[in-house]
Amino acid sequence: MVEKIKVCPACKVAENSYKVSEIYMQSLMRLKSGDKAEAPVIDALQAKIPEERRDKLKGSRYYRELMESFAPPQGETQNTRAINPDWVAFALAFLSVYFLYQIFTTQYGVFWFAVGFAVMAYAAYFIFRKKIFAKYQVQKDQEAGSKGQVEKAIGVWMKLYYCVKDNIVFIENKNESIPLQEMRSYLLSKSK
Ligand SMILES: [Zn+2]
Repeated sequence: MVEKIKVCPACKVAENSYKVSEIYMQSLMRLKSGDKAEAPVIDALQAKIPEERRDKLKGSRYYRELMESFAPPQGETQNTRAINPDWVAFALAFLSVYFLYQIFTTQYGVFWFAVGFAVMAYAAYFIFRKKIFAKYQVQKDQEAGSKGQVEKAIGVWMKLYYCVKDNIVFIENKNESIPLQEMRSYLLSKSK
């Protein structure tokens, strides 16, 4: 892995710069396989980090913190994926046949009432289907949008370097730098 060393815009030298994605990967490796795992970037970082910022954490807690500070951007962790309303209606139709059968065998007195109710519910669904689908489409578009945004942010993250002396991240050949703590908000603003 011969990587061209990148010049930091703050201290103007390249020898303190490390690729953010490599720091992340190697801290992950250390976290998984312990101190024996080969992680030259992590060793170099530890040797170069200024005394006042040197981490008091040791072992896996240190690697975990390292990994979290350099982690790539992730989407908001909302797992509510848009579901096609027709699928929901289909599943409910299936269920209602089952329930109607139950009612038919145990409470025949209310069977036709239940059938009427089911028919009305389905009539309502088909009347409002257009509206329901418009909402579904909006939700789907939003999901696609935020996914694209995260992908873009990861693309920028791949190009980031970290200067251990200045505790900043930067993109090669660009004369701007951001404190490490602001990396995440920077990445998301870049990808809008
Ligand atoms: Zn620097």
